[in-house]
Amino acid sequence: MQSLVQIVLIGAPGSGKGTQARLLSQQYGIPQISTGELLRQAVQSRLPLGLEAQAVMDQGLLVSDTIVMGIIRDRLVQPDARSGFLLDGFPRNLEQAQALEKLLETLDRPLTVAILFQMDSEYLIQRLSGRLTCPQCGAVYNRYTSPPRFDDQCDNCGTLLRHRSDDNEETIINRLRVYEAQTEPLIGFYRSRGLLAEINADGPIPTIFRQIRRVINEHRQRRAPLRPRKGKVPARQSKSPAAARTARRVSTTSAKKKSKPRNLPPAKKRSGKAKKTRSR
Ligand SMILES: [Zn+2]
Repeated sequence: MQSLVQIVLIGAPGSGKGTQARLLSQQYGIPQISTGELLRQAVQSRLPLGLEAQAVMDQGLLVSDTIVMGIIRDRLVQPDARSGFLLDGFPRNLEQAQALEKLLETLDRPLTVAILFQMDSEYLIQRLSGRLTCPQCGAVYNRYTSPPRFDDQCDNCGTLLRHRSDDNEETIINRLRVYEAQTEPLIGFYRSRGLLAEINADGPIPTIFRQIRRVINEHRQRRAPLRPRKGKVPARQSKSPAAARTARRVSTTSAKKKSKPRNLPPAKKRSGKAKKTRSR
């Protein structure tokens, strides 16, 4: 059985995280989960937590982490998230990372890896400030990285492209500062758990995608030893049913239990199975 693919993506706005998230979601057949989207859905479908969130937002307040975690939990147990999930834009800070860790522990579904999209901030600013969108068909261009064929005109429909007002340099620098301040502790958190993988997000989309897949596979293999160890126990027992029977008989009296390790060195595991068999 393949291990689950459970990923957190950490990347600044403009780092290409969204594009990679879509590709990864297809590659591994796992849902891309964004909390903003989840929250909207929960509100729309009038789920209890959605209604709670709505009430908070109506007061102009931020939805608490408790509500957000509840909504994420409900999402992770859906059938399409059985082989894993990809969290995009969550956790945003240390508190959320800790809450997520706790949640995944209770679900017994540990995180595979947290992927950090590294990109030079100068380049990020250029990428963000050069963004052009088509008001007609929604196509996105970039003056520096993917310009339209004709000056400020949409390749698809010829409409004059628009430059978003919040794409000016000052706003962008502010957004990046906020991002850095929030994610810095997050990076330390995942690094200390051996879950952080840094990838160079400055390059062609397929190259970055390959990098990410390699990182995911490496981290999946690190998890792998945990499974066979569990699986081996019944396999070894099945070889010697007689021994298991003996162990079962021995374990019925707690007085004899104490002397057992000396007589039957590997009896610990056997008695474990014996107990299970008896309780049937
Ligand atoms: Zn267009």
